[in-house]
Amino acid sequence: MFLDRDGTMIDEVGYLDRREDVRWFPWTIDAVRLLNRAGYLVCVVTNQGGIGLGLFDEPFVHGLHAWLDATLHESGAVVDGWFLCPHHPRAVAAEMRGPCACRKPGRGMIDAACARWDIDLTRSWVVGDRDIDVMMAVAVGARGILVRTGHGERDLRKVDLSLPAGTPVVMDLMEATVLILAEGERRT
Ligand SMILES: [Mg+2]
Ligand SMILES: [Zn+2]
Repeated sequence: MFLDRDGTMIDEVGYLDRREDVRWFPWTIDAVRLLNRAGYLVCVVTNQGGIGLGLFDEPFVHGLHAWLDATLHESGAVVDGWFLCPHHPRAVAAEMRGPCACRKPGRGMIDAACARWDIDLTRSWVVGDRDIDVMMAVAVGARGILVRTGHGERDLRKVDLSLPAGTPVVMDLMEATVLILAEGERRT
């Protein structure tokens, strides 16, 4: 299970550079707990090009993730791994400009997770609010779900939107979770 962070788990506020700007969607913690209980490994995969752009540094994002993690733990929800891409095509420093394998829709962050755990990608999902999240799923042979929160509603109106046929479009992460759990039951 690969979850996008901004616009999917928490409110999309542009480049998130202050902990005070974190606003959980009210269903996120319950959704993660449901996925935990169903036995899914839960990884967060997030493009953090703000690092490459120099808006904040990587330790800030790691600290933010540790803090998000602590909040989840307080409610009994577990994220197994946090993965980020620090690169950005307009980064100041050449080594942060890429192209890299990890910037979504690239598959690098999922490959990093697969190096740590034995993951069956054909039974994996990527849930996110942008077409790049769904394209990341396509890149690894997993299934993608687009949520309408964050950029989702706007991305759905893009004329050049290229979602694979049959990609589920749902209201939010909780609806995605319900769909995933129902699908799991159908398979067994
Ligand atoms: Mg997002
Ligand atoms: Zn990258």
